[in-house]
Amino acid sequence: MQEREETAEERSRRWMEREAAKADKEEGGRAVKKMRCSKCGKEVDEYLEIAGRILCLECYAEEEADELGALEMPGEGGGAG
Ligand SMILES: [Zn+2]
Repeated sequence: MQEREETAEERSRRWMEREAAKADKEEGGRAVKKMRCSKCGKEVDEYLEIAGRILCLECYAEEEADELGALEMPGEGGGAG
C-alpha cells in the first residue's frame, strides 16, 4: 500500500466510523440507525435522502421511475424493454 494524502472524504469516513464505534458502545451493538421513509412510513436502515426527504429503496425506485417517465417524450420510444 502506498502512502498518500488523506482526502476529505476519507477523513469524514474515518470520523463516521469513529462515531459509529462510539454509538456502538453506547447503544449496545446497534450502529445502524433506522429512519422512517417519508413516503410509505416504513422504518428502514437503508435509505436515500432526496431533497431533504428520506426515502426507502422501494420508494426511491418509484420516484426515479416517475421522474424518468416524466422526462420521456410522450408517444415516443420502442416497446422493447
Ligand atoms: Zn418507502
